[in-house]
Amino acid sequence: MKILVINCGSSSLKYQVFDMSDESVLAKGLVEKIGLPGSFLKHRRGDEDNIIVERNMPNHEVAIGLVIGTLLDEKQGVVKSMDEILAVGHRVVHAGERYASSVLINDDVMQALRQCIELAPLHNPPNIMGIEVCEKLMPNAKHVAVFDTAFHQTMPQTAYLYALPLELYKKHGIRRYGFHGTSHRYVSERAAHMLGRAVSEVKVITCHLGNGASVAAIDGGKSIDTSMGFTPLEGLMMGTRSGDLDPAVVPFLMEKESMNSEQISSFLNKKCGVMGISEVSSDFRVVEGAAAKGNEQAQLALHMYYYRVRKYVGAYAAALGSVDAIVFTAGLGENSPEVREEVCKHLGFMGVELDLAKNRVRGKEVDLSSENAKVKVLLIPTNEELIIARDTKGLVDSH
Ligand code: AMP
Repeated sequence: MKILVINCGSSSLKYQVFDMSDESVLAKGLVEKIGLPGSFLKHRRGDEDNIIVERNMPNHEVAIGLVIGTLLDEKQGVVKSMDEILAVGHRVVHAGERYASSVLINDDVMQALRQCIELAPLHNPPNIMGIEVCEKLMPNAKHVAVFDTAFHQTMPQTAYLYALPLELYKKHGIRRYGFHGTSHRYVSERAAHMLGRAVSEVKVITCHLGNGASVAAIDGGKSIDTSMGFTPLEGLMMGTRSGDLDPAVVPFLMEKESMNSEQISSFLNKKCGVMGISEVSSDFRVVEGAAAKGNEQAQLALHMYYYRVRKYVGAYAAALGSVDAIVFTAGLGENSPEVREEVCKHLGFMGVELDLAKNRVRGKEVDLSSENAKVKVLLIPTNEELIIARDTKGLVDSH
């Protein structure tokens, strides 16, 4: 069975085609700058070189049309007819409390996704648009939605409620939802595999450290807490997001800097975090480079970042009661030995012992801990697309 996985953002879209007989990736690519000048498609078939197609793409329909055209192309394509692709798995950011697992898309599901727009105004509209366009252009395929929030629906009330009047949760759905669920789920399952134990038996803390970043506490395969909240702004310090903040800062800043609600929200999402402190970049490679050359603000940003991740690991160790493994994943977690070393520093009290020689590695699934460490430190490259493809296949098989 061939499955197309689509992750549709406001001006970009990523795709992968899987052959589910062996879970191999037949082709993958992305379209950037949809609706903007300079839009292009980058496509790769199997292990071949990337090709770039520069094309004016004023909207998602044209962009997805070009993806389909490329998949059908005699030289670059992987199918002779789109009917070979039996199903499309769509990444959708927010399902509120409605779905705790992936679903086959029908009119009710679309209705529920539209209702969640107010919870994820930046993410759900392009996700919905991607589904609508794919349904139009691939009417014979089955379409499945896989949600970022679903995996965290197992959190207990004690973890997901904010200490606001309970009525506001009932009236407006204000609560912790958590994000990156597909990634936390994938790496926690791989962690159990690496430990040689059943998922139901292990307690892990998963650190998804990318441009957006979150930590999750996972007990027996179930998320019991996570650092992102009502929106992806809460929790860790991120590339451009502030993360945790005294809520009293918000009205104070609005008054002092004459910002309205839209401006403060955009400020906290786009101008803060590592970028705001370092004043260098939100890209860790650049900030690490500046720090190495002695830039003190870059050094401060990095040390604040490490400290906050470490604090969450400590908090989640307490939430879990014991920990079998700490997992690092996503752009930084997979590629920055410094981040892993600095986070694990001072965690010896709970049995963490990183092997510094093993830690000099990037992007490979590997156990980084010393032989006798009580708590394992695992590097596991995430693979959200594979989870989306597997869920899609599972739903298609069972219907
Ligand atoms: P993601 O959102 O998962 O793509 O992660 C993006 C983040 O990972 C950016 O801050 C990148 O700078 C960071 N990153 C990617 N590669 C490296 C690397 N080799 N060293 C340090 N940071 C990296």
